[in-house]
Amino acid sequence: MSRWLVAIAIALAVTALTPAPALAAPPPYYPPLDWVQAAAGNFSVGRGGAQITTIVIHETDGSYSSAINWFRRPGSKASAHYLVRAWDGEITQLVAETDTAYHARDANPWTIGIEHEFYLRQGILHTDAQYRSSALLVCAIARRYDIPIDRNHIVGHRELPNQFHGDPGPLWDWTYYMSLVRSCAGGDGRVTVSSVETCGEPGCTPPAGLEFGDEGPDVALLQWALAYLGFMADETVSGGAGNFGPQTLAAVQAFQEAKELPVTGYYGELTSAALSDALAQNPVTAPTAPLAPGTMSSDVSKLQISLRKLGYMDLVTGYYGRITQEAVLTDV
Ligand SMILES: [Zn+2]
Repeated sequence: MSRWLVAIAIALAVTALTPAPALAAPPPYYPPLDWVQAAAGNFSVGRGGAQITTIVIHETDGSYSSAINWFRRPGSKASAHYLVRAWDGEITQLVAETDTAYHARDANPWTIGIEHEFYLRQGILHTDAQYRSSALLVCAIARRYDIPIDRNHIVGHRELPNQFHGDPGPLWDWTYYMSLVRSCAGGDGRVTVSSVETCGEPGCTPPAGLEFGDEGPDVALLQWALAYLGFMADETVSGGAGNFGPQTLAAVQAFQEAKELPVTGYYGELTSAALSDALAQNPVTAPTAPLAPGTMSSDVSKLQISLRKLGYMDLVTGYYGRITQEAVLTDV
């Protein structure tokens, strides 16, 4: 949720401040992300002089949280620069781009590795939100290093020489993904909030007609939606997505109660429509007006907190002065 806030806050701030093309890399088209550092020893500092020329696409074959845990565990000797969550496209960065992540053996020094949450056995599949978020990320990286947007430079782990991995597998849609990357790269470089916020769209909620005892990817999608809205714990879902059991029943009922719907525990048309609405309205804490230099407000604090989280500044004062302005405009 806070990622959308960051995107919106930055977009608003940037809109308020810029003289359009003067802005350098990240703010407008760089997707918002979280930063959780991989354990020392699971990556190496620097690039050993190599130039970054290629982006490597991976699938986790495990949940988002288990991937983060694995990269943070000392001694696992594995990492990736980024990890993109299936359900909503949330991005966590674990290794700085200037450092070498351990994701593709001899290709490590000249590549950036992006893991995509995917766990077929638990019904965690690629989603439109994930493809879009990852495409924005790739687009930003490609611009930064002048990497051509083609399949020679944006490759699957399995396509590199000397690898023993089959990812991404056949459910990764290269054609669609590359079309998203190209359209981002070919645009004017500004990502609108609506292109990041995909959750009012079809495909974001499962079709109506799910009930206790059902299983499969639609149930997983329902669970992730409920978790996103705070009606289920992320851990519960990542621990067993895809089975409509007692916890999912309770979460559907809690959601129905909150939305003043009949509390049946059945995911039918009414509940489905309410879920779509709730997701579409999600970033409710976003600032509603552009922030102007000289302003002092809680919206400014929120923007500063977001900027601090992203590593662009360290003070949260609530005052939109020169420091905040520079942080917004900082190139990384
Ligand atoms: Zn891989």
